[in-house]
Order: sequence, then C-alpha cells, then structure tokens
Amino acid sequence: MKNLPQTADCIIIGGGIIGCSIAYHCAKMGKKVIVIEKDYLGSGSTGRCIGGIRQQFSSETTVRIAMDSVKIFKEFGDRCEWYSGGYIFLAHSRNQVDEYKKAISLQKRLGLDVSFISTQEIEKIVPGIDTTNLLGGAYSPVDGQANPFLTLKIMSDAIKELGGKIHTKEEVVSIKKETGRVVSVKTNTNAGCFAKQSSETTSFSSGNEYFAPVIVNCAGAYLSEIGKMLGIEIPSYPERHEALITESIENLFNPMLVDYRAGGYYFIQRHETGQIIGCYTPIPTFEGKSKESSIKFLTEMPKRMIRFLPVLSDTKVLRQWAGSYIMTPDGNPILDKTEIQGFYVAGAMCGHGFMLGPCCGKLMAELIFEGKTSIDISEFSLKRKFKKKEIFK
Ligand SMILES: Cc1cc2nc3c(=O)[nH]c(=O)nc-3n(C[C@H](O)[C@H](O)[C@H](O)COP(=O)(O)OP(=O)(O)OC[C@H]3O[C@@H](n4cnc5c(N)ncnc54)[C@H](O)[C@@H]3O)c2cc1C
Repeated sequence: MKNLPQTADCIIIGGGIIGCSIAYHCAKMGKKVIVIEKDYLGSGSTGRCIGGIRQQFSSETTVRIAMDSVKIFKEFGDRCEWYSGGYIFLAHSRNQVDEYKKAISLQKRLGLDVSFISTQEIEKIVPGIDTTNLLGGAYSPVDGQANPFLTLKIMSDAIKELGGKIHTKEEVVSIKKETGRVVSVKTNTNAGCFAKQSSETTSFSSGNEYFAPVIVNCAGAYLSEIGKMLGIEIPSYPERHEALITESIENLFNPMLVDYRAGGYYFIQRHETGQIIGCYTPIPTFEGKSKESSIKFLTEMPKRMIRFLPVLSDTKVLRQWAGSYIMTPDGNPILDKTEIQGFYVAGAMCGHGFMLGPCCGKLMAELIFEGKTSIDISEFSLKRKFKKKEIFK
C-alpha cells in the first residue's frame, strides 16, 4: 500500500536550539510541525556550546530578546539546570570602560539588573583573580548558565507531546517550490554521523518527501547551502571555535568571566558539577566547518586560565572539542522571511544562539503565523546592510 503524503503546517530544517525553539513555539500555537535533523538533536553547534546565557548586549533588540529568553530558561528552571550566577565583562582600557558604561545605561533603561563594578568588587566575587591593569567590569548578577542538551530535551519532548514529529538521521537534500512558493522537502534517510552534505551527495537510495506551506531554514553551519537550494544568498559563514572542560573542583566563582583582549578568554564554573568550561576567540579567526580540536588550544587555554586565576594551576583538563560559530558580517543573527513565499531563515547566531534561542523561536513563530513579532526584529533582516556591529561579541 502506498504511504500517505506526510504533511505539516511547518517544516523545520535543523534540530539545534533555533530549529527546536521555533518548532516548540509553533507547536504551542497549535501548529503541526515536522523537524528534520540530519544527525541527532544538538549535533551541530548547540551540543558544542558552553551554556553561557547573558543579557548584556549593545543593541536594544538583542537585550530585549536575551531578557525574554532568560524568562523562558527560568520557566524551564532545574529541568535545564538554569543557574543565575552572572557574567562579568572585564575592562582593561578606558575605551572598554566607556563602551561598557554606555551599554549599561541602555541595558538599565530596558530593566536589566546590571552595573559597572570596581576591581575590588570583582575580587570579592572572584577571589584570587589577577587584577593587573583591571579597571573594573560590567556585571549582571542575573545572567547565567544552563545545559544545552537538557534545554533541547525539554523543547523536543514538548514538540512530540503537542503532536509534532521529529525525524533524526534524515538529511534535507532538496526543496521544491512551485509558482514562487515552497511546497515540500526531500530527504535522504541514509544520513547520520558520517553523512555527506547535500552539495556533495550525488545519489541516495532512500528518503521521504514532506509537504508544508512553510519551510524554515535553521541549518546552522549549513544555512547558506540550504538557502542555495532555492537560489537564496544568505551571508553567513562558519568559524571554528574550541572549548575545554576540566575536572570538578570546589566552588571558586559563579559568573562567566569575559576578557576581550587579544590574549583573552571566557570561562565559567558549571554550577551543577563544579567543572570549569571555557573558550577563547582565536586571532586570526578560523573560517570553515572544521570541528577538529587543536593542540594549540589545549596548551594555550589552560595557560590563560591560570594566568588570570592562578588557583587553577593544579586543575586537570578532562576534554576538549570544537564547533562552529555561524557568523554574519555585522555579528548579528538573521531572522527573516525570504522572497520565496513560505521560506524563512533563522540562524547565523554569531556565537549567541543558545542564549537567544528561546525567544528567537517565539519571534519566528509569531512572524510565520501571525505576520508580526512582539519585538521588532527588522534589524536582523536578510537584506540589511550588515553595518551595525555588536560590541559584546
Ligand atoms: C565552542 C562553542 C561555545 C559556545 N558557547 C556558547 C554559549 O556559551 N552561549 C551561547 O548562547 N552560544 C554559544 N555558542 C554558540 C551556539 O552554540 C550557537 O549559536 C547555536 O548552537 C546555534 O544554534 P543553531 O540551531 O542555529 O545551529 P545548530 O545547533 O548547528 O543546529 C543546526 C542543525 O542543522 C542540522 N542540519 C544541517 N544541514 C541539514 C540538512 N541538510 N538537513 C537536516 N539537518 C541539517 C545540523 O546537523 C545541526 O544539528 C557556542 C558555540 C561553540 C562552537
């Protein structure tokens, strides 16, 4: 007997935080959703992120999205290991002090609990921190951390409970449109850990076709490849970022520490386990989809951590890994419809996708099914000039 066509109100390509969050909010609106993920949920950047969540940004739109996302993380609470331990952006130059203070006045106007604190106050919050050249820092005690895998689990469980479908190990290889609007996607069900990307796939033996009037491209590092399936240019490109995690140690500090200088870092102590988890941004940046770890990072990151927090000198590194930041020329996401009716794009989160994801999903669901959003996201449009830079990178 022939299978019935599989239909939905909305097909989501990609099972990271952005795809799952959009599907979660669409399902809560009563829409029938299908999520298609070529590997497992979180296998892209989301499962490789370090779980930092902050609301300190320099753009009003992003602050508002981040504050709304924190409300959702708080609703998930212990189920996603939400913990409000704060974030400190360390200032080592007058220019940084001025930039942070300017951003703080915007953030305060939007209702965020944030202030510029002195070096002495930082030393109280992070005992033993190296204060050489430190001029203070931007501190919000209501920023925090959560577990990306548990966050995806909460969303995906809800999607299924609300009648949505999640297909993993299934790769979207083409998108069909007719008379200027999307109709369906075709998949390769041979996809998996070793799946080749669609552009390289020359043949496939099995797959499905799913039909919906709405298709959302949330393919993370593959955002532009999926766009090209319909001739849409998406100015996003992946960069490799590395991370490491240490063994569990006694509680030393709570906030994420961010140092934007050339030899800088960002790291946090995981509340649940006591492990230190952190990254630095390589200079120059490392473009491409590589997920290979480097010995350079493994030797350099601990040195930086010990320099700024000497008490870590005996702490052992347990594991390192790498993943993608999906960037745009202005360091801000793309959340928009496209010129093809029913085809949407949500991603290029520039290293902030986990923290912004819960609200971005809500806004995209509103855009798709209500035609307007509760926060104006026009500055994240696909056709913008990509000139306005985010200073809290
Ligand atoms: C080391 C590191 C640390 C980070 N730390 C933080 C942090 O502390 N806080 C924070 O907010 N962000 C952080 N990030 C960034 C964050 O991980 C990303 O912004 C976020 O995960 C992006 O989510 P996404 O859903 O857009 O992409 P992804 O999670 O990559 O999801 C896209 C999914 O699409 C799937 N896909 C691709 N092509 C296809 C196809 N053809 N068919 C079906 N599926 C497809 C992929 O397999 C993937 O699972 C970090 C990133 C890295 C690498």
